[in-house]
Amino acid sequence: MLRVAVVGSGPSGVYTAQALVEQDPDVRVHVLDRLPCPYGLVRYGVAPDHEKIKSLQNSLRTVLEHERITFLGNIEVGDGGIPPARIGELYQAVVYCVGAATDRGLAVPGEALPGSSSATEFVSWYSAHPDASANGFALQARSVVVIGVGNVAVDVARVLSRSADELRPTDVPHGALDALARSRVREVHIAGRRGPSQARFTTKELRELGTLPGARVAVDEAELALDPAYADPSPRPAPALSSPPNVPPLTAAARRNVEVLRGWAAAGAAGVGAGEDPVRTVHLRFFLRPVELLERGGRVAGVRFARTVPDGSGGVRDSGRYEDIDAQLVLRAVGYRGLPLPGLPFDPVRGTVPHRAGRVLRDGVPSPGEYVAGWIKRGPTGVIGSNRSCAKETVTSLLDDAPLLAGRPSAPDPVAALRAWGLRPVEWDGWLSIERAETALGRSLGRGQVKIPDWTGLLSAAERAHLG
Ligand code: NAP
Repeated sequence: MLRVAVVGSGPSGVYTAQALVEQDPDVRVHVLDRLPCPYGLVRYGVAPDHEKIKSLQNSLRTVLEHERITFLGNIEVGDGGIPPARIGELYQAVVYCVGAATDRGLAVPGEALPGSSSATEFVSWYSAHPDASANGFALQARSVVVIGVGNVAVDVARVLSRSADELRPTDVPHGALDALARSRVREVHIAGRRGPSQARFTTKELRELGTLPGARVAVDEAELALDPAYADPSPRPAPALSSPPNVPPLTAAARRNVEVLRGWAAAGAAGVGAGEDPVRTVHLRFFLRPVELLERGGRVAGVRFARTVPDGSGGVRDSGRYEDIDAQLVLRAVGYRGLPLPGLPFDPVRGTVPHRAGRVLRDGVPSPGEYVAGWIKRGPTGVIGSNRSCAKETVTSLLDDAPLLAGRPSAPDPVAALRAWGLRPVEWDGWLSIERAETALGRSLGRGQVKIPDWTGLLSAAERAHLG
């Protein structure tokens, strides 16, 4: 019987556990998570108004309730927790599914000013992540700049543009709902450094911006038209083999995005929106590279952008012109970044653990018993479903190695060993107790389930599982 630990209970961790028990009738899997709650970014990253994606938690739950899978929350592996090497002593194989734990920076002056923050911090706040700053976001800003044109940028712009009434039925924590109810935000500017055909958001998320009851979306046709692919989104003929193209061909997804933006541009300066009387405007801007965050009175007051133009090779160059956009809140949504785990090899450029088909490589050689899946393996790209095939590839490697792994030692009772090390794992009944406490909290507030936003609240709710 193979004993495997999966570190991380987000989609990549749960899909890894699922593939393991489906493909090997004898394997036992422990899914460890630093938080007392499972589901990773499905619980703490998917926006609260994306109920359909959030409902994926139901299928992840079914996996974690499998008889050969055990969830162990409140177990941190890595910096500040147990070193990976010690976890490796308890199990014959460990699969690290720890995601990309931090966000990228802009490296421009003013980035650290009060009022400038990463979108990750904002998402953590409205998702009730227990590590989110207790002070939260007061949303006194009238104008917000969101830097980056990926799905995270669209998520935070959309949440900022929704009313509290729209978000009340969701599991958004009460403090965040209160701040959103009193929000003074009127203008949300989403700024991309390249053109509309190079934006990273998906068309479904883009279209959704045009359906908000309380906001309209404005795009500037002249700005969009700087992008040659905006003027002509048709698929280009295949280039002759002897002359490789300078510009990568437009993907179907990029073409769909351009078509949506062309439709919105046709509506003119008034923009588009579903509501009768929109209170907010989302400005979708392109060809703006942030060069500095501007300061007034010790706080962020805006962003200075270099105006860019296409360079003919899919990138941009500065045009020599600048534009300042006033903003009292700046959120950078320029992607996530993986963090190294102590003792595990790491590629600092890609922010990933070097691997071959999921086997961790030490000096280019597969390291027995160590595997990766998800964003720490392939970088922070793709949608939740992308983790299924990624996990399957890793599990295939692991099970191919099973004869070798069977000879490795493991602890007869890893949970007892973790307790002996002074850790207090939150097991499945503890998590169910947290869920019950969140339902009770929601009921007391006249809402559905409402997330508990702090460590003390989560751990004491988990403890109540043992008090009957
Ligand atoms: P992303 O898709 O990689 O987008 C990052 C954006 O930041 C890009 O527009 C990028 O522009 C820009 N950027 C990077 N460095 C910059 C800089 N120094 N200055 C200005 N702009 C910069 O990242 P993400 O939005 O964080 O999303 C991460 C992953 O999660 C994606 O796979 C996404 O689809 C997924 N996700 C999905 C959903 C959903 O399905 N609803 C929701 C949230 C996240 P360039 O292209 O020019 O580099």
